[in-house]
Amino acid sequence: MPAITIKDVRVILTQPTGQRLVVVKIITSEPGLYGLGCSTFTQRFHAVHAAIEHHLKPFLIGRDVQRIEDIWQQAMVNGYWRNGPVLNNAISGIDMALWDIKGKLANMPVYQLLGGKCREAASVYVHADGRDAAEVVENAQRFIEQGYRFIRVQMGGYGGKHARDLRPEGALEGAYYDPRAYVRNMLNMIEAVRVALGDEIELLHDIHERLQPIDAIGFAKALEQFKLFFLEDALAPEDIDWFERLRAQCTTPLAMGELFVNSLEWRTLIERRLIDFIRMHISAIGGVTPARNAAIMAQIYGIRTAWHGPADVSPVGHAANLHLDLWSPNFGIQEWCRFPELVYEMFPGCPEVRSGYMYPNDKPGFGVDIDEALAAKYPCTDEVEQWTQTRLPDGTPARP
Ligand code: MG
Repeated sequence: MPAITIKDVRVILTQPTGQRLVVVKIITSEPGLYGLGCSTFTQRFHAVHAAIEHHLKPFLIGRDVQRIEDIWQQAMVNGYWRNGPVLNNAISGIDMALWDIKGKLANMPVYQLLGGKCREAASVYVHADGRDAAEVVENAQRFIEQGYRFIRVQMGGYGGKHARDLRPEGALEGAYYDPRAYVRNMLNMIEAVRVALGDEIELLHDIHERLQPIDAIGFAKALEQFKLFFLEDALAPEDIDWFERLRAQCTTPLAMGELFVNSLEWRTLIERRLIDFIRMHISAIGGVTPARNAAIMAQIYGIRTAWHGPADVSPVGHAANLHLDLWSPNFGIQEWCRFPELVYEMFPGCPEVRSGYMYPNDKPGFGVDIDEALAAKYPCTDEVEQWTQTRLPDGTPARP
């Protein structure tokens, strides 16, 4: 039987909510057979689009759709320089689309190809925010009523209240925050939430790499008494050497990795058991193929998965997360963004969440399709990101 080959690669850009989504469609030589993948790098979507259209598409046309591993390995080094979020996201869309096609050819969901289910559904956590502790409690209680048991609590987003009042004269515009005030305010908020919600609800918190390493260690230590399910991105990727010191100081469970783009970044953390959850943005590391490898490595070292899953992951990407979650023996938790109805209409088969669990639909592949006509009605807008123009109280540029 002649091989089924890649006939065309198309990039679909759409913005049904605030986030610009990048979806790849691989069309095969077999009539009616195609696959979808997620390449969403919402802040740099044009760059990913160009990488696929001008570099990867000419490289891919005519290749055997069954040879996912061979294509992944070759695509990663074809430009000689490798990794980086643009190339990784571009390759991810191809990789996921090929897994989707393989599932359709086998007439099986992708989790079957990975080794079959270890569970029927994936536990998810959702985000409760608020202007003050009372509002965070109120929002968390609403989620609990809907059956959620894992809740990430933040106050005023990632930096607390903007510290604009403290700026020196002539300071530049930006998204200001005060790291030391953040630590004080978050400790008070998390204590209030724990007292109000009791011990049964699992709480999570995301520092978003916004503290100096020594302050992050002090914060993690002070949080120990509130028994978080995990503390996310306590340190920036540039500061991962500090994890050893953080680990030595407290038992607050640690989740890390949404900014990682290279296996060197998670390898040491796993090998030295310095974290408890890996949580990469799967498209930013290159798709299901490297995520499967990272999950297996983590499993050997007793570390669980918690893949990144906010609204800057397309429904195809969320389905890829879910299929890995259902299979991984070391699955921990899945982040979930609660898409509005429009997204379900645009992406038929988008995973559904009921009472805190995310369920697959058991269609072959990832089980998600796209209504391209509807997607075209919501074109991506160009805008300069504001929230990433982060500054400390004296105007110093800071990591977002
Ligand atoms: Mg995060």
